[in-house]
Amino acid sequence: MWKRLLAASVWVVLMVGMVLAVPAAEKPKLKALIIDGQNAHPWQSTTPVLKKILEQTGLFQVDVATSPPKGADMSGFKPNFAAYDVVISNYQGDPWPEETKKALVDYVAGGGGLVIYHFALAAFPDWKEWNEMIGLGGWGGRNEKHGPYVYWQDGKIVYDDSPGKGGGHGPAQEFVLDVRCPDHPIMQGLPPRFAHVKDELYGWLRGPAKNLTILATAFAPKEKGGSGRHEPLLFTVQYGKGRVFQNALGHTANELKSVAFIVTFQRGCEWAATGKVTQPVPPDFPGPDKPSVRE
Ligand code: ZN
Repeated sequence: MWKRLLAASVWVVLMVGMVLAVPAAEKPKLKALIIDGQNAHPWQSTTPVLKKILEQTGLFQVDVATSPPKGADMSGFKPNFAAYDVVISNYQGDPWPEETKKALVDYVAGGGGLVIYHFALAAFPDWKEWNEMIGLGGWGGRNEKHGPYVYWQDGKIVYDDSPGKGGGHGPAQEFVLDVRCPDHPIMQGLPPRFAHVKDELYGWLRGPAKNLTILATAFAPKEKGGSGRHEPLLFTVQYGKGRVFQNALGHTANELKSVAFIVTFQRGCEWAATGKVTQPVPPDFPGPDKPSVRE
């Protein structure tokens, strides 16, 4: 009798212990899809870092869709964009099949999130809806026919219709980003100026620039091969019901160690997915004086 009672109480204690050990129901993760497979930049080494950076937030479950290589048959490349909260492009290369292009436009217009990372802004110069979704692009023969140059001057956006090619940069250099929209969810709580590691400072971007919000710019000095303007490097576009975020930083995996990149990318992806940012600003986020790096 005593033995049975003892056994029963041990059983009860074990059961209670097991129930308590089960963590509170985890919030379902946001589904993110990184697109790569072609890029004049080293996508093979940057995609795994982008994936890791997103997973470190605990918010995202990340898949990767890799296209066929340059010149190969693209007709079977049909990622299921609609299954994701946010699609991140690390792609610059051959045009996609019409069906795939339409699926991405429908996905974004219908409320999907799209994030453009660094040289992905050079993709698809001849795809009208793509240029509208990304707001500003460069290279690929872009010129005044694609839209104005856009930069920041005297506290506001300038749309400059002068002719010329879109996209350029001087030698890699350290630079400071100036926050231009401190109330935007991606920028809330960040210092007004923050340093980034030695990287390409993109300039002369141009495009339709409809429904564009500039979040941060960096000054590109002429003596360092720049435009002499405050160039937009973090910005958003509203496209239909969808949210698009561009982060023009991060030439290679080495530049992705910059906390200025990591945090703005993490926050931008959450915002593109949900319209909100729940991530606190980490203590190692840099101020204006020197960049902060994570190994
Ligand atoms: Zn680059």
